[in-house]
Amino acid sequence: MIPVRIVVVGGGVIGLLTAMECARTGAQVDVVDRADIPSPWATSYDRHRVVRALHRGDMGLTAAAARGHDAWLEIERRLGTRFYHRVGALTAMAADDAPTNLTLLAWAGVAARALPAEDLAARYPRIRFAAGLAGVLEPAAGAVLADRMLAALAGWLRDRPGVRLHPRRRVVRVDDAGAVRLADGGVLGGDVVVVAAGPWSRDLVPAVLGKDLTLYRQTMLTYAPAPSPQAWAGMPAVPSLGTTSGAWLMPPVAGTPVRLSAASACRPVPELTDRVTPARWRDHLIDEFSALLVDFEPAAVVGATDSYYLADTASGRPVLATLCDGTVLAYAACGGMSFKFAPLVARALADHAVGRPPLRTGLGSIDRPREFAAAGSRGSSR
Ligand SMILES: Cc1cc2nc3c(=O)[nH]c(=O)nc-3n(C[C@H](O)[C@H](O)[C@H](O)COP(=O)(O)OP(=O)(O)OC[C@H]3O[C@@H](n4cnc5c(N)ncnc54)[C@H](O)[C@@H]3O)c2cc1C
Repeated sequence: MIPVRIVVVGGGVIGLLTAMECARTGAQVDVVDRADIPSPWATSYDRHRVVRALHRGDMGLTAAAARGHDAWLEIERRLGTRFYHRVGALTAMAADDAPTNLTLLAWAGVAARALPAEDLAARYPRIRFAAGLAGVLEPAAGAVLADRMLAALAGWLRDRPGVRLHPRRRVVRVDDAGAVRLADGGVLGGDVVVVAAGPWSRDLVPAVLGKDLTLYRQTMLTYAPAPSPQAWAGMPAVPSLGTTSGAWLMPPVAGTPVRLSAASACRPVPELTDRVTPARWRDHLIDEFSALLVDFEPAAVVGATDSYYLADTASGRPVLATLCDGTVLAYAACGGMSFKFAPLVARALADHAVGRPPLRTGLGSIDRPREFAAAGSRGSSR
């Protein structure tokens, strides 16, 4: 039997995991990226990404995220590299909301426990939690060291017969027949093309799909607090500090620095430009965390970086689309919290690509892809 030929556009977490899943079926896979593979410019490329199950009040997302956690452990085993550090994940919320969310996690099969207000203050004295907040702690959740994982994944693919990596080659157009046209004049052909170009995907999908997507830019601080990172020992990832601003923090994990951000530091922007943080957004986060962290030292903010993601304007969720009767599959919008779902999304994309019944991820926008007749991009060649 002639193996399926698949071209994957984009070497972020979705593209590389999709390539791995396709290669494991015996398909021939080309992975092409405008930058290095992995690329430090990819949204996926960071020191860490939080993997946790609880999505407050949402059964679908919570169940899918619980499966995502298991899938990350499986990928860690496959790659033989440790990158998933299960430091726990703490979600702060109004004390009245904690019992419902604990029930939700129990229903999804996730071990968790409640931390009443007095326990929160006693266990995490560095954080100034607002009065009336309780916590829900998922002890087995934590952080994927994204840059290490992507490097290991790229290494696995590089060594795999039937896989070819094409770094520093920019795709300018994907044709209806599955021809991938490159800025250097080259063409890569496949039976199926998977577009997983992260926040750049709008340039490669039909305008009728692109107009429904919003590009977001988010600022994050790197914090090296005194007297030593050991003072943060035992601190879990905190995807919600319980503020209206949506503040969150990543503790030091395996030598990484503290990272601080908030939903309020995420704004819609018209175009993807640089990653240099404007002073006002840096100052906004410094003000926010001056109020939230005990002994916060603005001088210990040693860096700030901006990164981008696309989301469906109406729902804020990721978007999967099939174009030209499935010749082209586009993960057109990655969303702001879907790293944790990446193994499930990649498996579903690979199933579509090789013609297997697709994995049911439990994520509506992935299990019911939007369909478009043509692949044509909005014509950008940036
Ligand atoms: C600040 C921030 C924090 C986040 N934290 C979390 C978190 O804690 N947990 C979580 O689950 N999710 C989180 N997310 C979301 C998560 O990081 C993204 O959903 C995910 O990384 C997107 O991966 P991707 O592979 O789709 O895109 P990317 O990682 O951006 O990869 C796209 C790749 O495509 C390449 N490319 C683009 N255009 C072209 C072209 N024309 N030709 C060739 N190659 C091209 C790029 O170079 C890039 O390598 C966060 C997002 C942000 C912005």
